[in-house]
Amino acid sequence: MQSGTIHLVGAGPGDPELLTLRAARLIKNASIIVHDGLVGPAILDMAHPDAQMVCVAKSRSKHTLPQEDINALLVREALAGRDVVRLKGGDPFVFGRGGEEMEAAQAAGVDVQVVPGISAANGAAAATGIALTHRDAASIVSFVAGQCKGLSEQDWAGLAGKGRTLVIYMGVKTAPSIAEKLMADGLAPDTPLAVVENACRTDMRVLRGPLAALPDIVEAHKVKSPALIIIGDVTARENAALASLVSEISA
Ligand code: SAH
Repeated sequence: MQSGTIHLVGAGPGDPELLTLRAARLIKNASIIVHDGLVGPAILDMAHPDAQMVCVAKSRSKHTLPQEDINALLVREALAGRDVVRLKGGDPFVFGRGGEEMEAAQAAGVDVQVVPGISAANGAAAATGIALTHRDAASIVSFVAGQCKGLSEQDWAGLAGKGRTLVIYMGVKTAPSIAEKLMADGLAPDTPLAVVENACRTDMRVLRGPLAALPDIVEAHKVKSPALIIIGDVTARENAALASLVSEISA
């Protein structure tokens, strides 16, 4: 039997209008969709009513399938001749483990196609008016993962500071260690930052303050995942979109 194709599809940050046309077509036509906790109901609702929906939630609170089991599931379905849509929040290759799934598919001799999505950083930037680069403020932008595992070993020196924007994914739980780490690296305590929770969704929240206040911002406002921490002067520039959204916190 001819094996099917695994499509690693980026679902963007939550708003269905931010899907690519290719992602929308694949979602509508799929007979099986394997998705995680980040893909919202409005996008899942676009699937065919008869499509098999498999949730392999990646959120801490829900049961999570280990990555090897997800890889095995994708490969098994494809080898059985089905085209599989593996739907992921944002972009599959930005902290989405798309690389691991692609390699597993290739190792099994299964055809794999990647459909890029709008990553949370790009979605949050557009929704808040915080330009990640700006000729007057930053010409370098970096994406890092702030989850607990290996945080202290990660070398972020030089990624934040004058002329630079640092976007931290998965940093809500570790916000105090993140602030400490960056200040230990020499970043000024008054470096401006913004926390963007639920970017591109109806319940989006934006909080701003200095680096030193990051732990307080997260705690006082009960910031929950998914949220991004954007650090740098670009977050301190005023724009009308931001003004209507933001809450300020002082040190
Ligand atoms: N592949 C995804 C990232 C997955 S890692 C992408 O490209 O966007 C999960 C992290 O992404 C979350 O912990 C959060 O930091 C960020 N994230 C995803 N969707 C988000 C959203 N709508 N608003 C804010 N942050 C989001």
